[in-house]
Amino acid sequence: MSARSPLQGDELPRILTPPPGPKSRASVKRLRRVESPAIWGKGADPIVWSRGRGAVIEDLDGNRYLDLTSGFGAVSLGHAAPEVARAVARQGKRLAQGLGDLTPNEAREKLVRTLSKLGGALSRVLLASTGSEAVELALKTAAIATTRRRFVAFSGGYHGDSYGALEATQHPEPPAAIRAQRSGRAIHIPYPCQYRCSATKPCAAVCDRACFTEGLAAIDRALGGEDPPGAILVEPIQGRAGAIVPPAWFLPELCGAARARGLLVIYDEVMTGACRTGPFWAWERSGPEAEPDLLCAGKGLGGGVAIAAVFSKRKWMDRWSAVAPASGEAPHASTFYGHPLACAGALAALRVLTARGFRERVEARGRDLAEGLARVASRHPSIVGEVRSAGLLGAIEFVRDRDSREPAPDRAKAALEALLARGVLAIPGGIHGNVISLLPPLTITEEQLRYALDQMSWGM
Ligand code: PMP
Repeated sequence: MSARSPLQGDELPRILTPPPGPKSRASVKRLRRVESPAIWGKGADPIVWSRGRGAVIEDLDGNRYLDLTSGFGAVSLGHAAPEVARAVARQGKRLAQGLGDLTPNEAREKLVRTLSKLGGALSRVLLASTGSEAVELALKTAAIATTRRRFVAFSGGYHGDSYGALEATQHPEPPAAIRAQRSGRAIHIPYPCQYRCSATKPCAAVCDRACFTEGLAAIDRALGGEDPPGAILVEPIQGRAGAIVPPAWFLPELCGAARARGLLVIYDEVMTGACRTGPFWAWERSGPEAEPDLLCAGKGLGGGVAIAAVFSKRKWMDRWSAVAPASGEAPHASTFYGHPLACAGALAALRVLTARGFRERVEARGRDLAEGLARVASRHPSIVGEVRSAGLLGAIEFVRDRDSREPAPDRAKAALEALLARGVLAIPGGIHGNVISLLPPLTITEEQLRYALDQMSWGM
């Protein structure tokens, strides 16, 4: 097969030159000369992606990898999903830009109506282009609805890097120079991580609720203060912190506690939504008592196009009408609002994501992932402290030894590098940098997933 024959998407890895190869390294060098260091960390040079199809990525040097990142979860249907690519190309020939809030376009109407149906009780929709923007809009909506600027967020949470979202993001910890710019709108309380609890009293094998009780007490203190919070922002499963799945009681009890205190609940499902964990929304795993007031989605919702959305119960979103200026201007505007190419791509992706049998397929692959991760854990009884997964969101936590549970970021880094050399891409994660996070495309084949999991064997 020649190096440039079209990718089919179901290939297995092919490493021609140890990554990063010379072409990748040369490209990184050129980029670093002109691009802001804001986007470059101090780590080793990465490979440079050239093309992708399905679960396969090819780099500039012709190396092929199995992509267990889905581009941070965005290409839920795999790279260059034909349905999405066709819809974007068709829309590109018809209308490629709208007039933000001023003049809707056909694709925007179709997408918003589809999303409204999908939202169920959260039937009011506000579009955005990125997850961070959706989080900011949800917080803004809650602040308008409650007339309170502060909100509760969770330890280890990630909600984006833009200014407003950064108020809530705790991990990865922003640099001190950026932390110093925060306005203090977020009140952080412990997330019930059952393996490595952040509460003062670490949980045993089953979370003993110390963190939850501690958190509620902190909320009550803040509610009695001068600048009380109006909402709670939470990831139903923490993503970047390392696929932290909370105990089953957490979301229903959090919602009950929020309601009793008059606080709105906002779920950040930017990573967990759009079938990543099986059901369309991860919160659905916790039953109807866990229904939120608002929800943010992004990433996989668009199947690879840049789109995000806030879903809200009507009464909260409708408070925006009370703040509309007399000038006739919309109270919120964005040049790329309802971007026709993104709307068309997302509509095509949603047709696949909501098709009969899709969820079952993700759940079947999710079982494969869980079984494969259990094998990884049993192969490494001393260095793998825990494996976790929900649907196709997975994590491997590296430790010094299983008893101490001391995080071993150096082992996670070495394991990731070994995977790269074997042609498997995964994401570094975890609050202590000691986790490998896995977000394969929801369409990955059984064979590809098995192959990738078989590579997870390290002589450490
Ligand atoms: N929320 C969560 C839970 C996320 O995982 C992310 C991205 N990793 C974001 C928000 C921010 O999304 P974006 O990078 O599209 O701004």
